[in-house]
Amino acid sequence: MKHLPLFGNHEYTLGILGGGQLGKMLCQAASNWDIKTAVMDKARDFPAAHLCHRFVVGDFSRYEDVYAFGKSVDLLTIEIENINIEALERLESEGVAVHPSPKTLRIVRDKVKQKEFYQEHGLPVTTFRTFENAAEVKRAVDDGSLSLPFVQKSRSEGYDGRGVLIVRTDEDIKNLIDEPCLAEKLVDIAVEIAVIAARNHHGEIRTFPPVAMHFHPEANLVEYLYAPAGLGPAIEQEAIQLAQATIEAFDMTGLLAVEMFLTEDGNILLNEVAPRPHNSGHHTIESCSVSQFSQHILAISGMPLIRPELLSPAVMTNLLGAEDYSGPVQYEGIDQCLQKGNVHIHLYGKKETRPFRKMGHVTVLDRHLPRAIEKAKFVQEHLIVRT
Ligand code: ADP
Repeated sequence: MKHLPLFGNHEYTLGILGGGQLGKMLCQAASNWDIKTAVMDKARDFPAAHLCHRFVVGDFSRYEDVYAFGKSVDLLTIEIENINIEALERLESEGVAVHPSPKTLRIVRDKVKQKEFYQEHGLPVTTFRTFENAAEVKRAVDDGSLSLPFVQKSRSEGYDGRGVLIVRTDEDIKNLIDEPCLAEKLVDIAVEIAVIAARNHHGEIRTFPPVAMHFHPEANLVEYLYAPAGLGPAIEQEAIQLAQATIEAFDMTGLLAVEMFLTEDGNILLNEVAPRPHNSGHHTIESCSVSQFSQHILAISGMPLIRPELLSPAVMTNLLGAEDYSGPVQYEGIDQCLQKGNVHIHLYGKKETRPFRKMGHVTVLDRHLPRAIEKAKFVQEHLIVRT
């Protein structure tokens, strides 16, 4: 990969496919280095639109749109995996730097391919079986070759818990997802952990400190996230090594968010990865010596990486649309939350709220993690996203 002199140089453009909150925060990070950005997404009212130098309306599942956009930039990255891969492959073959690579995206966006890849590389995952549809899964349950409980996952298009079904009872069988899928062992999870790793084309790897994630039971989104994760040095070191081995296996340039399960019996299993900035790294904007967004840009543009250090304990909570409201968004309670001190509010700028839609996030810093947790709970109760 050629080193791209993007910094303070408007002859070159960083292209970002996807103008949601991740694209927006990438543009914010790029702006600190006076990097010129172009973003493509469906509509001009998307969060990143007013922060980039050039916004292109387009559909990233369409070959022509992705190809034309890629041809107009010098370095191309993504904020979402569902991009037309054939277009990315052609761009790469024509010399556009595309990170993450289409090869990585092909593996990651199919949960079966992703798990097979981990098995081939000796990385620890749950055992699983592959099925074509719900009827096949049901037959396997009926003939006794697949026993309850298990987790059914759609092979593709799953995110934020969509396309994931925990099957414990005969009643759950009725709700099986009728798509190509996998069924895997239900893991006794003690804690869900994420480690974000970055790698540049020299093979230099840097990892962010592990975080512990707690999920919203209904929305299946990260509700709270803590750093430090408080799992003890041995487990945290193991999690970091697993993230390093995973990014190495993909031979990646860029950021890889590695989600893992710490099981009740003390093992770490790989769950899934995202080859881009991730919800589990939002707190790094305020809590670390480098944010995940800045680190991603450093990695993909061939610059030296910064060693991520946690400068303060942090709790991140997502601001989700309140359950009973859909329509033009309004926020309540911002002033009360700010009064708590060291409460960092990010509103993504989405015009419409919907139940559980990710509308923003808040990072709370405090020297004492329990106090940060308390403040984050206050924010959750008082900062209301409604119409
Ligand atoms: P998504 O692509 O939607 O993020 P995940 O594979 O991360 O899907 O699954 C969503 C959530 O479902 C996980 O964060 C975890 O809480 C739960 N889950 C997934 N796989 C398992 C499993 N094998 N055992 C127990 N819980 C699981």
